[in-house]
Amino acid sequence: MAIRKHSRKRDAILECVRSTTEHPAAEWVYSHLKDEFPDLSLATVYRNLAMFKDEGLVESLGTVGGIERFDGNTAPHDHFICTACNAVIDFEAPALPNALLEQVQTQLGAKLSGYRLHYYGLCRNCKNKKTN
Ligand code: ZN
Ligand code: MN
Repeated sequence: MAIRKHSRKRDAILECVRSTTEHPAAEWVYSHLKDEFPDLSLATVYRNLAMFKDEGLVESLGTVGGIERFDGNTAPHDHFICTACNAVIDFEAPALPNALLEQVQTQLGAKLSGYRLHYYGLCRNCKNKKTN
């Protein structure tokens, strides 16, 4: 079993992702920690986020506007992604109907263990800007 050296930076990066609902990118984490850790590099943030992802401590939401975004909340929940401002917003969507899930299983000849949906569109702010 590998023993990992205790690292204040590692702890701070994890805490930074967990303490926000921004669903931050690596750059966001870096800019929030660089004053506290002047020798921190963006590469270190990337490396630690990749490790946290492998360890199941954070989740990757995939890329939004070409940039990978992370979630420190690993409990099941849904996301709305604004295609104008790239905001990633937590919410609880209704479950998909069983008939639909069964249809997917039949179509694939597979057994589903779960699903993950992202909802896309204009967030309330961007929608209001468009209509004003
Ligand atoms: Zn928006
Ligand atoms: Mn989330």
